[in-house]
Amino acid sequence: MNKQTLYEMLQQQGVSRRGFLKYCTALTSLMALPPAMLPTVAKALESARRPSVIWLSFQECTGCTESLTRSHSPTVEGLIFDHISLDYHHTLQAASGHGAEHAREQSIKENYGKYLVVVDGSIPLAEPGYSTIAGISNLDMLNETVAGAAAVIAVGTCAAYGGLPHADPNPTGAVSVTSLISVHP
Ligand code: SF4
Repeated sequence: MNKQTLYEMLQQQGVSRRGFLKYCTALTSLMALPPAMLPTVAKALESARRPSVIWLSFQECTGCTESLTRSHSPTVEGLIFDHISLDYHHTLQAASGHGAEHAREQSIKENYGKYLVVVDGSIPLAEPGYSTIAGISNLDMLNETVAGAAAVIAVGTCAAYGGLPHADPNPTGAVSVTSLISVHP
């Protein structure tokens, strides 16, 4: 799990204290806050950590992840090492089995109310056994994981609209994430 703060990360990349404060000043001004708020902004940024992300892959073809690994700006390495803490992702994580599930549970516990959930793939409702991870049905894992999430992001047409698995005759009873979780503008 990522314990490094944003400031520590910037320091590692050679950003000086002076550069950091200049950035805070610009940000304070950009947000139209009074100059007196500068210490508050600096303090908040100093202690901020990269957001934890739990990526769930359900009835999918790995194409969404393939797209992610081929991104150029940012690259997937830049994204993982500099911007987010990718705590769970079947295809990209090193851990497997119990270790992988432990990482997901730990991330939920440590970041409750603050982590992001990314989902690719649809969810089968016809029969829970059609798609399971660690013996947990996709629906149960989705419900369990989004309970403490700050936001849920549906990636690709399968997660957003049901995609190919949802096509007639839809043998698995595939539905989109958005049909199961209320969407807030
Ligand atoms: S949206 Fe569905 S079909 Fe398209 S790449 Fe993602 S998982 Fe595959």
